[in-house]
This record gives sequence, structure tokens and C-alpha cells, in this order.
Amino acid sequence: MNIILLGPPGAGKGTQAKLIEERHGMKQLSTGDMLRAAVAAGTETGKKAKAIMDRGELVSDDIVVGIIADRLDAPDVKKGFILDGFPRNTAQAEALDTMLAGKGLKLDAVIEMKVDDEALVERITGRYTCAKCGKGYHDRFEKPKVAGVCDVCGSTEFTRRADDNEKTVRDRLAIYNRQTAPLVAYYGGSGQLKTIDGMADIGKVTRQIEGLLKGV
Ligand code: ADP
Ligand code: ADP
Ligand code: ZN
Repeated sequence: MNIILLGPPGAGKGTQAKLIEERHGMKQLSTGDMLRAAVAAGTETGKKAKAIMDRGELVSDDIVVGIIADRLDAPDVKKGFILDGFPRNTAQAEALDTMLAGKGLKLDAVIEMKVDDEALVERITGRYTCAKCGKGYHDRFEKPKVAGVCDVCGSTEFTRRADDNEKTVRDRLAIYNRQTAPLVAYYGGSGQLKTIDGMADIGKVTRQIEGLLKGV
């Protein structure tokens, strides 16, 4: 199964993508994670992307379309993929359609996660991640079982994203509303779009998604 998780920054795409990965063996393809890895590794792509990402703007379509085209050819996506953070505008959605047609692949569902803006700001400003294994946490909504210790790998080191501050979050939300929200109409037309209530707690959101995937 091949799906897109569509939603604003902080909607819970990454959190749910990791849970779907565990349950269904589909692979999470997060352009944000891949770009952050490129920045950390100091590659040419990373050098081009860093300042743009720090401002919360979108990196060029060429870069992200190229990254996704490469990933879709890898063996680990044979059981399916979960696109998280891509496509982000109509040009990327059109490039994805062309790419999938060329590879003989298709999308099974586009899941739109709806969350109010104020909740998004609270989610993003409280977000942090295990530095070792990448497990996501939240200061209020998803704390480790033992304070300061990752549930998954036991590490005591955590990181916060440079762009997860209130100012940049508001800019990212404005860009989402202007550039990415039109994809709801783009996919609505093809009958692939399913909308869920992303305001619910993490477990309830997972159950809504599982219900949708059963019907696909
Ligand atoms: P996205 O990938 O869409 O930007 P994340 O999955 O990283 O969003 O979630 C943003 C933050 O909100 C994380 O700290 C996560 O733990 C928390 N979170 C995710 N889903 C929910 C939810 N349904 N309710 C409350 N907090 C959530
Ligand atoms: P979010 O928490 O907003 O879902 P992401 O991890 O998806 O964050 O994206 C972080 C940053 O990486 C974005 O603000 C943007 O600069 C860049 N980025 C990620 N995916 C894309 C994309 N598909 N197109 C352009 N820029 C992207
Ligand atoms: Zn960990």
C-alpha cells in the first residue's frame, strides 16, 4: 500500500508514519528527515537547504523531487511507502504523479490530518526527539516513561529542531496554508482523499487511520 500523510507542521504525520511502519511494514519517506540528514552530513544538498529550512521556507522542488525519485527505487519501499511532508505544493504533486506512472506505481490513499493552528503551535514548540534512535516525544503529550530516558533505546540525549520555535512555526503554518493546503482540492478530485480528526489523542488518531487503511 502506498499512502500520503497530508497535514500542517505538527499535525502528527511523523508520529503516525512510524506507527504505520511498525504495523504494516511500509516505509516512511520523510523529506524533512532526509533534508536534515543531508544538512548534518554537510552534503551539497544540505548546504543549499540549511538556511531555507531555518527560515521555515520550502526548499526547491528539484531537490525534493530528486530525493523522492531516488528513494522510490530502493528495495525497502517494495512493501509500500508513507509519504510524510511530500508533496508540499501542486508542482510537487504533479511531479509525483508523473514519477509514479513512470514506475508503474499508484497511490492507495491520501490521508489529511486536520488540527487547529493553536494546537499546532503547542505541539511543535514542545516537540523533541531521541538523538540516538529518532523516537519523537512531547513535553506534555508524549513523555518518556522514565523522565530523560528514551523508551526505545535507553539513550539520555535528545534534540530539538532549530525551526521548532514559535516565530518559525507561524511562518511555516502560513506557507502551509498558502502552498500545501491546495493539495486537499487536488486529491479531493480523484476520490483518494480521506480526512481524519488530528485533534484526537495519538492512539485515537492511529485507530482512525487503521480504520481507513482496512477499507483501502
Ligand atoms: P509532524 O510530523 O506532522 O510535523 P509530529 O508527528 O512530529 O508532527 O508531532 C508533533 C509533536 O506533537 C510531537 O512532539 C508529537 O509527540 C506530538 N503529537 C503527535 N500527535 C499528537 C496528538 N494526536 N496529540 C498530541 N500530541 C501529538
Ligand atoms: P514539519 O514538521 O513542518 O512537517 P518537515 O520535517 O516536513 O516539517 O520539514 C522541515 C523543513 O524541511 C520544511 O520547513 C522545509 O524547509 C523542508 N522541506 C521538507 N519537505 C519539503 C518539501 N516536500 N518541499 C520543500 N521543502 C521541504
Ligand atoms: Zn531512543
